[in-house]
Amino acid sequence: MFGQAELGIDLGTANLLVYSKDKGIIVNEPSVVAIDQQTRKVLAVGSDAKEMIGKTPGRIVATRPMKDGVIADFDITSEMLKGLMRKAGKELGLNLRKPTVVVCVPSGATSVEKRAIEDAIKSSGAKEVHLIEEPVAAAIGADLPVEEPIANLIVDIGGGTTEVAIISYGGIVTCNSIRLAGDKLDEDIVLYIKKTYNLLIGERTAENIKMEIGYALIEHEEQKMAVRGRDLLTGLPKTIEVSSYEIQKAIKEALLTILETIRTTLETCPPELSGDIVDRGVVLSGGGALIKGMQEWISREIIIPVHLAPNPLESVAIGTGRSLHVLKALQKAKS
Ligand code: ADP
Ligand code: MG
Repeated sequence: MFGQAELGIDLGTANLLVYSKDKGIIVNEPSVVAIDQQTRKVLAVGSDAKEMIGKTPGRIVATRPMKDGVIADFDITSEMLKGLMRKAGKELGLNLRKPTVVVCVPSGATSVEKRAIEDAIKSSGAKEVHLIEEPVAAAIGADLPVEEPIANLIVDIGGGTTEVAIISYGGIVTCNSIRLAGDKLDEDIVLYIKKTYNLLIGERTAENIKMEIGYALIEHEEQKMAVRGRDLLTGLPKTIEVSSYEIQKAIKEALLTILETIRTTLETCPPELSGDIVDRGVVLSGGGALIKGMQEWISREIIIPVHLAPNPLESVAIGTGRSLHVLKALQKAKS
């Protein structure tokens, strides 16, 4: 219909992206909402709200309403979606009345969790909502030929969940989803610094450490970084220096869990498809794929080539948006 917008939404634990067929990514913001606890009023959403995490005065809290890839707080998620859909409308230069939306859901989500995601999108003004499984969206966004009878293995490491799936003929052949991803690495860094240095650091600081000097389990030249926090003994601010070797040790356990999930998926791969995967390799997407040395490390461990998706942070959103035409074709075929 004329003027009817069609959007793909990646409602991630860490980042929310909106993709339009004509304009590409039109919204890319952290999944964060700042609220006044007394009045329950939403003060900011997205990057404005993320800036406030851990820095706000008592009654204002910056929260992340998505946890482990699903909705933890329905009302706040709806508010966040409303705010960001307004932004999407502005970007498109037309008012976003009743868009058709495709939204991705983690393959491990329960039907109740899927329903909540659908309802939240509807409450933000969508006319029609279609769901697509996240690994399929990630694979489409990473330009993998998902509609062909060729198996592709995709690993999406997000903030809250890691999804490992084998996709063939447009569907998931086998899949493992764990509720451990980038956020867990941040938590482990906070814990390590606290135990080793009696220093309390915030989650944003931990995330910065991970991005700057966090390495997968590969050999590398040592890097150091100054880290600020609160000394738990004196209660005073303090700066220490941490090494990339220490951080590697701190995140090792979580990285091994991710690797184990990839191994398990490969083990359950139907033999007819194993050959494809050995030939074509594994594709990494999601922000966690950007950890230094990830590609090299996984490839060495599973002895299969590993490729990085062209835009790891955007693959799911792009794939979600592009999947619209596939859905339409399916609907036409049905009616
Ligand atoms: P989600 O789909 O759950 O919203 P994303 O795919 O957007 O998650 O990835 C977010 C995660 O990726 C966060 O844990 C973030 O810290 C991590 N991340 C983003 N960029 C990098 C980077 N350059 N190095 C390491 N981790 C990163
Ligand atoms: Mg994601």
